[in-house]
Amino acid sequence: MGLTRVLLIALVVWLALVFIRRQLGQMRRRPEQAQARLVRCARCGIYLPESETKPDANQARICAHH
Ligand SMILES: [Zn+2]
Repeated sequence: MGLTRVLLIALVVWLALVFIRRQLGQMRRRPEQAQARLVRCARCGIYLPESETKPDANQARICAHH
């Protein structure tokens, strides 16, 4: 009976740690997504992530599909 209770407490503590770690991981990931820099396309004027743009002849950022 005592062992069952210890195992139950250990399980609850483990689940709590897993839950807290997951919450912390989500909190850390959110600012990175917010930091994805948006740049304005010099040709069509829409805003999109810098990784989806390329430089044109004048070194301005334009959409990758132009
Ligand atoms: Zn464009």
